[in-house]
Amino acid sequence: MLADQDRIFTNIYGMHDRSLAGARQRGHWDGTAGIIKKGRDWIVSEMKESGLRGRGGAGFPTGLKWSFMPKESDGRPSYLVINADESEPGTCKDREIMRHDPHTLIEGALIASFAMNANTAYIYIRGEFIREREALQAAIDECYAAGLLGKNAAKSGWDFDLFLSHGAGAYICGEETALLESLEGKKGMPRMKPPFPAGAGLYGCPTTVNNVESIAVVPTILRRGAAWFSSMGNPNNAGTKLFAISGHVNRPCVVEEEMSIPLRELLEKHCGGVRGGWGNLKAVIPGGSSVQLLPHTVCDEAIMDFDWLRGQQSGLGTAAVIVMDQSVDVIKAIWRLSAFYKHESCGQCTPCREGTGWMMRVMERLVKGEAEPEEIDMLWDVTKQVEGHTICALGDAAAWPIQGLIRHYRDEIEDRIKHKRGVSAVAAE
Ligand code: SF4
Repeated sequence: MLADQDRIFTNIYGMHDRSLAGARQRGHWDGTAGIIKKGRDWIVSEMKESGLRGRGGAGFPTGLKWSFMPKESDGRPSYLVINADESEPGTCKDREIMRHDPHTLIEGALIASFAMNANTAYIYIRGEFIREREALQAAIDECYAAGLLGKNAAKSGWDFDLFLSHGAGAYICGEETALLESLEGKKGMPRMKPPFPAGAGLYGCPTTVNNVESIAVVPTILRRGAAWFSSMGNPNNAGTKLFAISGHVNRPCVVEEEMSIPLRELLEKHCGGVRGGWGNLKAVIPGGSSVQLLPHTVCDEAIMDFDWLRGQQSGLGTAAVIVMDQSVDVIKAIWRLSAFYKHESCGQCTPCREGTGWMMRVMERLVKGEAEPEEIDMLWDVTKQVEGHTICALGDAAAWPIQGLIRHYRDEIEDRIKHKRGVSAVAAE
């Protein structure tokens, strides 16, 4: 279990003063100028050494991503854009940072922007996050008043402006290039890649898009050292992580824990266990709605990190753990996700636009048992035709939960079809 002195987020539950004075008391904004004066190369290499992998879902190494930004400007400015769209169902960790510990993010934005030669950063916050935006804006205003942002920010010699931009509530704007389009004032539709944002991102300029948590942990990593951060978790899965646990546990919560914690320990230590006991567990979606679920037989040994979950054809994603007990109709639960992805598809590419609707409609029939058994394989084939054949990852996100359902609960789907046929036959007689 993570020791208290190793927690990066010391006010995640809003029990303490979230203002600048409170944040300073808890050790934030301590020696920021000194960190910046160590230079870009030192910061990027320290971030690489720390082993931090992006906390927004993809798990790409953060330091490496930063190193893709041009060292010298060709005349265009560079930008850091912070993705605070947090729309993945089940995910509710970044909002806790923004409303209760916003200074971790602002200090991180200054350091990260300096490391990427960006004098300006934007935070793109999702439409529904009204209180979070207010808390964050209040913290940004405080920082400008205290000289921590603006000209010679925090007396570092670096000029830095930070802007908060409010989205309108579309899930797809959490996809980095759709986010950039939306930030530019256009319709939030993903762009074809390449070019990647590091080459041509916001307004056609070099841009890095990072998740809120990825940026908020930066100052503490640099203060305490890469070796401290990388000493936690299994190799290649370093550090601490915010887990957001919802569903059928006794105490749903957001908690910072060491990476690679066993799933069972996470649920029992922090959430009071599964409702009705561990034996009542049916399935867990370990990383937000787009990853494949884990059946209870696998949950006993599940390790919460990128590599272990990938080995199970699932994923850590945003570490939003959705727990389902035996009372759940798992086919209906996955149908609900299919309906969500169908609704949120931007409609730009055919496999996603048509496929999400197609998959949802077959899922609807599977929920009622009103399908032919062959349709299960047909549905599987459609998920394979959508997966990897779209402009952005929404197509994969719509396909994977269904693949997980068929892989692990095919018997249940078939039983429902048989049962429905039996009932219909009796009724006919
Ligand atoms: Fe739009 Fe879906 Fe294509 Fe993504 S995969 S660009 S959401 S249609």
